[in-house]
Amino acid sequence: MAELRSLVVVLGDQLDLAAAAFDGFNPAVDAVWMAEVAEESTHVWSSKPRTLMFLAAMRHFALALQAAGRPLHYTRLESPGNGGSLAAQLQADIARLKPAGLVMTAPGDWRVLESIKALAEANRLPLEIREDRHFFSSIRDFAAHAQGRKSLRMEYFYREQRKRHDILMQGGEPVGGQWNFDTDNREAFGAAGPGAIPPRASFEPDAVTREVMAIVESRFAGHPGRLDSFAWPVTRAQALQSLQAFIRERLPLFGRYQDAMWPGDPWLYHAHLSAALNLKLLNPREVVAAAVAAHRDGQAPLASVEGFIRQILGWREYVRGVYWTQMPAYQERNALAAQEDLPAWFWTGATDMACLRDALAQTLEHGYANHIQRLMVTGLYTLMLGVQPRQVHAWYLAVYVDAVEWVELPNTLGMSQYADGGVMGSKPYIATGKYIQRMSPHCKGCRYDPAQRSGDNACPFTTLYWDFLMRHEVALAKNPRMALQVKNVARLTDAQKQAVNERAAAIRCGEVAVAHD
Ligand SMILES: Cc1cc2nc3c(=O)[nH]c(=O)nc-3n(C[C@H](O)[C@H](O)[C@H](O)COP(=O)(O)OP(=O)(O)OC[C@H]3O[C@@H](n4cnc5c(N)ncnc54)[C@H](O)[C@@H]3O)c2cc1C
Ligand code: SF4
Repeated sequence: MAELRSLVVVLGDQLDLAAAAFDGFNPAVDAVWMAEVAEESTHVWSSKPRTLMFLAAMRHFALALQAAGRPLHYTRLESPGNGGSLAAQLQADIARLKPAGLVMTAPGDWRVLESIKALAEANRLPLEIREDRHFFSSIRDFAAHAQGRKSLRMEYFYREQRKRHDILMQGGEPVGGQWNFDTDNREAFGAAGPGAIPPRASFEPDAVTREVMAIVESRFAGHPGRLDSFAWPVTRAQALQSLQAFIRERLPLFGRYQDAMWPGDPWLYHAHLSAALNLKLLNPREVVAAAVAAHRDGQAPLASVEGFIRQILGWREYVRGVYWTQMPAYQERNALAAQEDLPAWFWTGATDMACLRDALAQTLEHGYANHIQRLMVTGLYTLMLGVQPRQVHAWYLAVYVDAVEWVELPNTLGMSQYADGGVMGSKPYIATGKYIQRMSPHCKGCRYDPAQRSGDNACPFTTLYWDFLMRHEVALAKNPRMALQVKNVARLTDAQKQAVNERAAAIRCGEVAVAHD
């Protein structure tokens, strides 16, 4: 056998035939390495939809590699002698194949990068790590932006990105004369509801996906979530169809209803493209270009197009920069010293709170909840309850089909739980149940009352909002953006404070919020 020049390591979230790792690939002397390993589904309690998403997409990508004539060493989950972890399997394959070197695109996760670097070193193998072209900016670009800044606000980074990549710009100024169209966006649906929304792009599982489904059902039988509604794009062709359908059918109203919620419908006007983007079935450049073209051709208003591009070119790139410039210390942050356990019903959805029950049911059924459900329903609840950020992180990383640590961790720990003490956000996002009442009709069908902060009918969000302010009063009073909210605590009588304390204690010990039927 001719000597193997490079073993090109491809991870489950690097599924692009045009990735940097393949530059200069020569099938006569190079080969691709991929492995399905149980560790990736067990280091957090990965939900069935999430595991299926990754494995089905990997197996379809393996077929694409074979069709492209690239030699492939692929270990299936059920292969005899599967090493069980990326490091163990790669070690066994290095010993067997004896490559002269390893090549890969930069991994998204710090944990994975460290383990592959250690393995290469232990085997005295050169490891070439190439820039990931699935982002507009490199980590170096972000680090240069972050240099000397006390806090890392998304807005400034986003404006730099718009200018640097010349997106929605005209003569050095933002198209439309402003950077941000938030005032035109973020409406709730009226009482009549969202009306007829085009169905989401969905894909019937083929034989390859069905085979993986059976494996997931038997190998990870006790893991959370269901597979009977699985319809995510798992190939590049399907991902492109999803993108086209979004641009055509949803983008025009994306901005307007970005923050709205509606019972039983998580899809609304969102893109549902995060998993395809994170697994690299899509490149953000083609996604942004399609949105810009829709505006240019008069198919979508600027406010929607800008709102959407802000998510991809702004938030997505910014959280990646935060992750790589702050890790590994970032994952340990717990600025609010939160010590509660995650309620067990987060894994089952068994709560009598209508808004949370809905968000959790969708999460378990589809591996999806939209951004506002993640931030202002599930995340808001764990923040105000005071759940340990590591447990919240492990939950978010486990349950969503788009969950990869570089994007999940800063969103959870920073944006949602304020555990980084203000690296990402200037204040904790806290709100009473009235916020949810304004953005959705959930409260109408709920046994709790968002206007009550104590007593048997008090909405747990409202109780926990006041409890949070009281617990963190001293620290929050120093934050000018929180001053007004903190001042309201002083208006409560001792008896009112006591009633909030009692109700919060009942929530914490599981007397409230758990479904009893
Ligand atoms: C606590 C918490 C955890 C999250 N975990 C993840 C995660 O594991 N993986 C993930 O991709 N996103 C995560 N997000 C961000 C966001 O909620 C999802 O990207 C979005 O809901 C995916 O649905 P969509 O494709 O329909 O997005 P849309 O609302 O249609 O947005 C379009 C695209 O913009 C990008 N985007 C939007 N918001 C963000 C953001 N805050 N950070 C990064 N990218 C963003 C996504 O690629 C998304 O596909 C999290 C948000 C919160 C608050
Ligand atoms: S009353 Fe509270 S718990 Fe019930 S739906 Fe409204 S916000 Fe959610």
